[in-house]
Amino acid sequence: MVRIQSVRKRFGPLEVLKGVSLDVPAGEVVCVVGPSGSGKSTLLRCVNRLETIDSGRVWVNGELMGYEERGGRLHALRPAELCRQRRGIGMVFQRFHLFPHRTALENVMEGPVTVLRTPAARARREAGELLDRVGLADRAHHYPAQLSGGQQQRVAIARSLAMRPHLMLFDEPTSALDPELVQEVLAVMRDLAASGMTMMVVTHEMAFAREVGDQLVFMDHGVVLERGHPREVLTAPRHERLRAFLGQVG
Ligand code: ATP
Ligand code: MG
Repeated sequence: MVRIQSVRKRFGPLEVLKGVSLDVPAGEVVCVVGPSGSGKSTLLRCVNRLETIDSGRVWVNGELMGYEERGGRLHALRPAELCRQRRGIGMVFQRFHLFPHRTALENVMEGPVTVLRTPAARARREAGELLDRVGLADRAHHYPAQLSGGQQQRVAIARSLAMRPHLMLFDEPTSALDPELVQEVLAVMRDLAASGMTMMVVTHEMAFAREVGDQLVFMDHGVVLERGHPREVLTAPRHERLRAFLGQVG
C-alpha cells in the first residue's frame, strides 16, 4: 500500500531524512517512534506530499505520489491530480484543527460536500454514522469548544474518514491530550486498525504500538535505525540509542 524508497529531504543546511525506505502492506499498522527532531513528522508529510522530497520515491496505493510516467520519463503531476492523490490519504495531527463555528456533524460533512460533491442529505447521514463509529453520536450538534480534547480528536478522525481514505496518517494524535483522554482516542484508532485500515502512526504510546502495530520503526537523526515486529523490537532492542529512547518514554 505504501512504499517509501530512499527518500531524502533537507531544510536548508539540515538533512532531515537521509534516505528512508519503508513498506507498509495494505491493512497493516506501522508505528513510528523516535526522539524529537528525528524526522518522524517530516516523513509523514512526505508521504502525502505536504512536503516535496529531494530524492527518492513514494508510492501510495500503487501510484507514484506527485509524478506520472510518460514516455519513460517522470513528469510532475498537475495540481488537480495531486489533490486527487492526496484526498485518498487522511491525516490527523496533534492539534485537531476543527472549524470552530461548525458543529461536530458539520465538521465531518464539510469535506464530502465541498470536495466530493456528496449531496448534503447523504453527507449528513454518513457523518452521523461516522460520529457514531467514534462514539460521539450524542455530540453531533455540539461545537468544538463544547467538546473535550479527546472528543475533538475523535471528530477529527471522523472528519478524515469521511473522505474515504485508503491510508491514514496520524502524527502524535494523543500528545496534546490530558492523560485521561488518551485511551478513548487510542480505542478509536484500534477499531480502525481492526477494520483493516492501513495506518502510519507516529506515537509515544508504546503499549498501543505493541498491541496494535504490525511494524515498529525507530527513527533517529533522519534514518530508520531499527524496525521489526513491535514485540521483538521492544523486548530486545538492538541499538543502544533505541534502548536509551525506550528508557525515557517508559
Ligand atoms: P517531534 O518529535 O518533536 O515532533 P519529529 O521527529 O517529528 O520531532 P520533524 O518535525 O520531522 O521531527 O523535524 C525534523 C527536523 O527538521 C527538526 O530539526 C526540525 O526543526 C526540522 N524541520 C522540520 N520542518 C521544517 C521546516 N519546514 N523548515 C525548516 N526545518 C524544519
Ligand atoms: Mg513531529
